[in-house]
Amino acid sequence: MSKPHNFSAGPGILPEDVLKQASDACINFDNLNLSLLEISHRSKNYEKVIDESHAIIKELFEVGDDYDVMYLGGGASLQFAMVPYNLLTDKGYAAYVNTGVWASKAIKEAKILGNTKVIASSEDKNFNYIPKGYDIPTDADYLHITSNNTIFGTQLKEFPKTNIPLVCDMSSDIFSRKVNAKDFTLIYAGAQKNMGPAGSTMVMVKKGALGKTGRKMLSMLDYQVHIKGGSMYNTPPVFPIYVTLLTLRWLKKNGGVAWIEKINQQKADLLYNEIDRNTLFVGTTAKEDRSNMNACFLTTKPELEAEFDKLWKDANISGIRGHRDVGGYRASMYNALPLESVKVLVDVMKEFEKKFA
Ligand SMILES: *Cc1c(COP(=O)(O)O)cnc(C)c1O
Repeated sequence: MSKPHNFSAGPGILPEDVLKQASDACINFDNLNLSLLEISHRSKNYEKVIDESHAIIKELFEVGDDYDVMYLGGGASLQFAMVPYNLLTDKGYAAYVNTGVWASKAIKEAKILGNTKVIASSEDKNFNYIPKGYDIPTDADYLHITSNNTIFGTQLKEFPKTNIPLVCDMSSDIFSRKVNAKDFTLIYAGAQKNMGPAGSTMVMVKKGALGKTGRKMLSMLDYQVHIKGGSMYNTPPVFPIYVTLLTLRWLKKNGGVAWIEKINQQKADLLYNEIDRNTLFVGTTAKEDRSNMNACFLTTKPELEAEFDKLWKDANISGIRGHRDVGGYRASMYNALPLESVKVLVDVMKEFEKKFA
């Protein structure tokens, strides 16, 4: 059987070409006849990986030397703690917008480290919309937002305008669309949704933003230590960083963020149009807040779910079962998912309607 159409929510699909190059590097990296997994991270050959990888992130975000980039372990979840640890002052407070499970987890960590205010939330409706029109404080140490809510399928279409440092968890839509990166003080993303494999997390921070908390810092949790070490204060996750680089090279070579944004829009339009047209499906979120990455939907006749499941499985589709917090289905359409796969899913939805409506 050929490779399934992979709508997995995370870790998500990677380009075929990237997987091939990654497996080659496991045996023979950079013509060394050694595996990438068995050489020093401080070798010249690996240093090139780190340097290019930092540079390509800045290039795709269109920022210059006023930002530092680092790769860390611990997933985006460690950033829920590192952000307040590095930015939240003794007397100050942090402002958070609660748009889902991941945002809630970020808030939980910040509350342990200092004063934290939730200034807006969509928890009242099981996070099926993005809060709007709330007041943004001017005196908070930072405002934390989540650009794409992977589990509930909502996405910020506009970012808050503010003069306080803006911090964003972009784990599930990084480099899926153009953003004005210069508006952010800190952006972080676990790689495994849209940028690479699990194991490495990207953090990009504006110069001058750090070192203000007055806290005595633990080395491994101090961004400044990792920046100074060039992502090599300790042994970095060498293989995930390499595969992330390959994925970013793939994106750049094909036309960068502007190129993928168009395709991502086509994929999302195709699927959401079918969800709205098809009498057997309904979307779970407010239309204006729909995520172009994760589309959540339900069958209007839950008793037919088993029939639908059979159809998409027969069509070689994988990974569209919904998250337990929402139920139904979730189709994740990350950068590497071809438009063709969405067409196959839409055809299956049409067939389902024809047979059972
Ligand atoms: C998956 C996800 C996380 C958690 O990432 P880990 O790497 O598993 O810690 C955080 N935020 C968002 C938006 C996510 O999608």
